Amino acid sequence: MRVKRAAKYGFCSGVRIADLKVKRFAAAGGRGAILGQVVHNERVVQEMENLGVRTVDDIVAVAEPTIVFSAHGVPPSFHDRARDHGLKILDTTCKFVYDIHRESKQALEAGYHLVFIGDPKHREVIGYTNDLDPSTYHIVSKIDEAESIDWLAYEKIKIFYQTTLNAEEFEDVVRVIERRANQVERGDTICYATKENQDAARVLAQDPDVDVIIIIGGRMSANTKHLWEICRESKPAYLIQGADDIEKQWLDGAKVVGLTAGSSTPDYVIDEVENAIAAM
Ligand code: SF4
Repeated sequence: MRVKRAAKYGFCSGVRIADLKVKRFAAAGGRGAILGQVVHNERVVQEMENLGVRTVDDIVAVAEPTIVFSAHGVPPSFHDRARDHGLKILDTTCKFVYDIHRESKQALEAGYHLVFIGDPKHREVIGYTNDLDPSTYHIVSKIDEAESIDWLAYEKIKIFYQTTLNAEEFEDVVRVIERRANQVERGDTICYATKENQDAARVLAQDPDVDVIIIIGGRMSANTKHLWEICRESKPAYLIQGADDIEKQWLDGAKVVGLTAGSSTPDYVIDEVENAIAAM
């Protein structure tokens, strides 16, 4: 049985930098707590905890001197809240997320109504919208939601995508808004790291040599789930968090096992899975 990795998989640049920043901070003796998971991967969360940087759900729960903001970013007001609590800030927000914070602020100041295509519960989207007046934006991800809003009430609209979405999948939603609105502009906010992993997963899934595909990533990771959805369209595909989750019968008769991983999966977990498959 041979393992074939996708041409592109695993940590994106934003997560790699966030991971490195926290590790350097811990190695220098820093004591801090991360607001929400630094990335959506339980192994990384555990690793950080072992380094002395635990995960908390609220700023008020931080007893350490420093709070860490994750790659997904936070609402701008959280910086003030953290300082009001006497905390230092280690900000690992991805620069692409900051681009959207900046561009959406500029659009708002220029009189646009904002539309975020994404998941209202995702921390990245909460970061963009939490501090805004609710009358200045909508968060939309489904066609019926887009159809239920009177877009003509707004003179001009600017659309931003949650970075990790596949824009093609939301084309129908955006078209509904464009058909029903006065003036619509789209921000170019899809993160290409995610798209590259998705394109490579599609190629792997369509590779005639590959019999079955294992996708590695955190349970809460939206982009990992998306890789699984892409792969299972063409091949049997299984989503796992690590080597312990592999079930032998999945690989029965397989000669080539495809391997890919979400953008929050560290390299060592991918290596462990490949070694476990090779040992079967
Ligand atoms: S997926 Fe893209 S936007 Fe998100 S952290 Fe990684 S590089 Fe940044």
